[in-house]
Amino acid sequence: SRSLIVAANWKMNGDSALIDAMIAKLSQVSFNDNVKVVIAPSFPYLDKLNSAVKAANLSDKISVSAQNISEQTSGAFTGEVSTAMLCDLAISHTIIGHSERRSIYGESDTLIADKVAVALAAGVTPILCIGESEAEREAGQTEQVLAKQLSAVIEKTGIEAFANIVLAYEPVWAIGTGKTASPEMAQETHAFIRKFIAASAQDIALMLPILYGGSVNQKTSEALFAQPDIDGGLIGGASLKADEFGTICQNA
Ligand code: 13P
Repeated sequence: SRSLIVAANWKMNGDSALIDAMIAKLSQVSFNDNVKVVIAPSFPYLDKLNSAVKAANLSDKISVSAQNISEQTSGAFTGEVSTAMLCDLAISHTIIGHSERRSIYGESDTLIADKVAVALAAGVTPILCIGESEAEREAGQTEQVLAKQLSAVIEKTGIEAFANIVLAYEPVWAIGTGKTASPEMAQETHAFIRKFIAASAQDIALMLPILYGGSVNQKTSEALFAQPDIDGGLIGGASLKADEFGTICQNA
C-alpha cells in the first residue's frame, strides 16, 4: 500500500539555523514505519541539508527536494538550476508547478510539463503541484481545472510517468490563508484526481501518492492524513517551526 509522505516546502524562508533545529528535532521523532519525510529548502541550502540528514543517519527517513527546476538541461540560462546539478548533489526530488510559480512567475501548464519531463529523464522525482483558485471553485470548475493541469503533463510524458511522480493537490485559496479544506472536501477532490488517473492507468493510480497542501498544521494534519485518498501533506508555514513540523511527522 501507499506510504505517507510529509513534505516541507520552506518557500523563500529558512536558514542554516533552521536546518540545525529541524535535524535536531527530527532526530528525536519516532516515525511510523510507513512515513517518509521530504524537506525542500531554497537552492543554496540543498547540499547543507543533505549532508546534515546523512550525518544524523536519517537518510532512510528524510529526502531533500528542490522547490523548482529549469526545463533546460544546460547552457546560457542565467539564474537557472538544472536537474543534472541536483543529481550531482544527490538531491532526489523537486517540487514543480507550485501555484506561486504558476501565478507569480507565469509558469504555464506546458512549461510545467516540460519541467516534469526533464526531471524524470534525470531520475529526479517530481512533486507536481496542482490546484484550483477560489474563483474556479466557486464557479464549480475545480475538476475541469485539475483535469487540464494533469492532462498537460500526461500529454508530454505519457501516463506511465505517473509511476514516478508524487502529486500535491493544493487549493490556491487554502495556501497561506489559514483556510484549510475540510478533510471531507479534500478527500472528495483527491478521490477525483485518483479516478482521473485511473481512467488511463488503474495500477498507477492505486500507487500514486497524492499529498494535500494548504494551511496544514499540527491541529489539522491528523484528520486530513486519515482520509483514504490523502497520502500525506505539503506543508508551508507550519514546516518552518521545527517543533510543529516534528509533531506533524510524529503523528502521521
Ligand atoms: P501553507 O502551509 O503555508 O498554507 O503553504 C502550503 C503550500 O503552498 C505548500 O507548498
